[in-house]
Amino acid sequence: MEASGSQGTRNCTGCGRAISWDANVCPYCGHDYRMQMMAPAQGGLGMSEGMKIILYLLSFFIPIIGIIVGIIYYTKPDNESKEFGKMCLILGIVGFLIGLVCNFAFLI
Ligand SMILES: [Zn+2]
Repeated sequence: MEASGSQGTRNCTGCGRAISWDANVCPYCGHDYRMQMMAPAQGGLGMSEGMKIILYLLSFFIPIIGIIVGIIYYTKPDNESKEFGKMCLILGIVGFLIGLVCNFAFLI
């Protein structure tokens, strides 16, 4: 076995270059593998796609939930949580406005 180079390396998921198996951080692009080990395939949000969709729907139909959840996640430091919080806020506000318009139309 003299497979030099291929042994003990893996391809970085961030930049695709071969890096050492035991490297915690990619020396080329800085991709951090310790984070992945702690929360596999979840990122900073730690929420499944299905859970997100349920919360989006709740945000839309029950605007107060969207606004509360939106503010909670929007204030978190990681981008994924921020994006999720922003979506909940937008859906909450849109749902709230639609609710207002419907109530208004009903009054007339
Ligand atoms: Zn890399």
